[in-house]
Amino acid sequence: MRGLLILSVLLGAVFGTKDFVGHQVLRISTASEAQVQKVKQLEDLEHLQLDFWRHPARPGIPIDVRVPFPSLQAVKIFLESHGISYEIMIKDVQLLLDEEQEQMATVQTRAASTDAFNYATYHTLEEIYDFIDLLVAEHPQLVSKIQIGSSYEDRPIYVLKFSTGGSNRPAIWIDTGIHSREWVTQASGVWFAKKITEDYGQDPTVTAILDNMDIFLEIITNPDGFAYTHSTNRMWRKTRSLVPGSNCVGVDPNRNWDAGFGESGASDNPCSETYRGKSPNSEVEVKSIVDFVKGHGNIKTFISIHSYSQLLLYPYGYTSQPAPDQKELDQVAKSAVKALASLYGTQFDYGSIITTIYQASGNTVDWTYNQGIKYSFTFELRDTGFYGFLLPARQIIPTAQETWLALLTIMEYTLEHPY
Ligand SMILES: [Zn+2]
Repeated sequence: MRGLLILSVLLGAVFGTKDFVGHQVLRISTASEAQVQKVKQLEDLEHLQLDFWRHPARPGIPIDVRVPFPSLQAVKIFLESHGISYEIMIKDVQLLLDEEQEQMATVQTRAASTDAFNYATYHTLEEIYDFIDLLVAEHPQLVSKIQIGSSYEDRPIYVLKFSTGGSNRPAIWIDTGIHSREWVTQASGVWFAKKITEDYGQDPTVTAILDNMDIFLEIITNPDGFAYTHSTNRMWRKTRSLVPGSNCVGVDPNRNWDAGFGESGASDNPCSETYRGKSPNSEVEVKSIVDFVKGHGNIKTFISIHSYSQLLLYPYGYTSQPAPDQKELDQVAKSAVKALASLYGTQFDYGSIITTIYQASGNTVDWTYNQGIKYSFTFELRDTGFYGFLLPARQIIPTAQETWLALLTIMEYTLEHPY
């Protein structure tokens, strides 16, 4: 055990990666609003370096927090002294990271074709960009690659366009990985891309969708953050932009949109994981999508994919005012999660962002909805908090498969309910 710990620390030092030896993820259960408020106090104690995987919301909704080893005792004593119950969700974060690295190292990473590509493992940014080029080369009539911008650190931002012709057809947008550490989402995005090329001309639903609409898929929506999760810090969520006057780096790209920006449900503290940024669209990764969506003008469905918690959410997040289309969105969500569960029995909750989780201002789908994209949804994929962001690679394909059924439901509904 101790040997393993030392090995992890050494490997971390060699590769320059941040180690998480002895970090635990605690699942906190609150019984009252007063207890929720107590846990919120912990959020403000910066010296503890806590990383909330699920933020305090309401009594009864679990709170997950990664606690660095040096802060563990203080946090546990704090919780116990206030009578707040918790359990240890992940005993040692580094052990899971070591397993993930080992798994990645055992599989061949360079594929000569998308058939030979390994969908059951996590991949680097370069490998995914190679996959994109292979897919385009194999299906030039169906798939093309569009660069919609360049990231803060000057990486290209690519979107895959699936189209069988026409001009500016009604379109579906899907993005994965806007929060870089949510690795199962980018991995699912890769699987979706392959699935679309396999099913067009075979599956009647996919064929009907693509004979009438285009699909845009942005797999690596936060390239700098994603590269950083591989090179340096697996737990990185935000962009990598420098914030003048602060030592803390990055903005939460799911709080940076021009919808309720500046209201509660985001932080104005650059060191927070939910830092909204100086102004709406300050992040080029967000601005690139905004420009693309406005320039296109005919996007009918916008789906932004996160993990984890097993939720399908629709606007609003910044206000408790119900969206004008709430009834319809709720019906669509209901049938989508039903389709999802039909494969492996995975249960998703659904509802508006603010009622289902908590207030979140400046989020993606509130903005797209206010732009007139009626079918705006956001997913939180597996799991509900056993592995959290560290979902083992063996769950990638099942996660993608079941999510695909929900996506198909929403896309088919869009096809049949034009507006
Ligand atoms: Zn997320």
